Amino acid sequence: MSIKLEHVNYIYSPGTAYEKKALSDICLEIPHGEFVGIIGHTGSGKSTLTQHLNGLIRATSGTVWYNGENIYGEGYDMKKLRGQVGLVFQYPEHQLFEVDVLTDVCFGPKNQGLSPKECEQRAAQALRLVGLKEKYWKSSPFELSGGQKRRAAIAGVLAMRPGVLVLDEPTAGLDPKGRDEILDQIAYLHRQSDMTVILVSHSMEDIAKYADRIIVMNKGQILYNDTPKQVFSHYQELEKIGLAAPQVTYIMHDIREAGFDVGVTATTVEEA
Ligand code: ADP
Repeated sequence: MSIKLEHVNYIYSPGTAYEKKALSDICLEIPHGEFVGIIGHTGSGKSTLTQHLNGLIRATSGTVWYNGENIYGEGYDMKKLRGQVGLVFQYPEHQLFEVDVLTDVCFGPKNQGLSPKECEQRAAQALRLVGLKEKYWKSSPFELSGGQKRRAAIAGVLAMRPGVLVLDEPTAGLDPKGRDEILDQIAYLHRQSDMTVILVSHSMEDIAKYADRIIVMNKGQILYNDTPKQVFSHYQELEKIGLAAPQVTYIMHDIREAGFDVGVTATTVEEA
């Protein structure tokens, strides 16, 4: 499930007064099973980049490879790719629309043509993975709390059994407790499976906690793409562009790297 971007450029509304170059010469390789953090300010190109990963938008120039296949090649199965690279958008709860949570989570597998029984099995497994208690499965998605809605929306993507899970600011708008719970749950999911996880955030604190590798985006370009340790060594440069986290974040990361589980809360194993 490796992903490779080769010299990807993306321009919104080319040839109009609104023309905007959002990505410049992005070259990037994400091997299978990695936990990658993508960080950058609003407008740095993070969302545009992630939408290239499952073919939702097509590069103006350059190539995207998935498992060694050019996704822009003739006859490439984009529908299959969208099932393989699951994208959880910002405020994903806006996409919850079915009568109850279980039916909502069944939506993706149903679209993949699976039988109702298989869909329910997949949905139940996904809901357990995200830690949403069974008593909520027959509730309307609108009756859930903010954090529970996020979990339900993430389950909807997981039910398609993607090889790659891309989360665009999954904690936006949640309070600090809800934010930590969701991030811990994502880290737990990653540990439980061999799924590649790509977490987009504008917070170095969130990214530093979990990522094996950090990609720093700035003005549509990749500024750094390295291990957290290497990226943190550019503290002064990160500070200049307002992306440096407090020193304690980096120390916590080092403690984790040394094998100590510091901050994974009880909610990781308990259900919400
Ligand atoms: P980020 O996710 O880091 O906030 P985006 O990928 O959303 O960044 O945006 C990158 C740049 O592209 C920004 O300058 C943004 O204003 C511009 N942009 C994003 N979406 C559109 C769009 N639909 N039309 C025109 N410009 C856009």
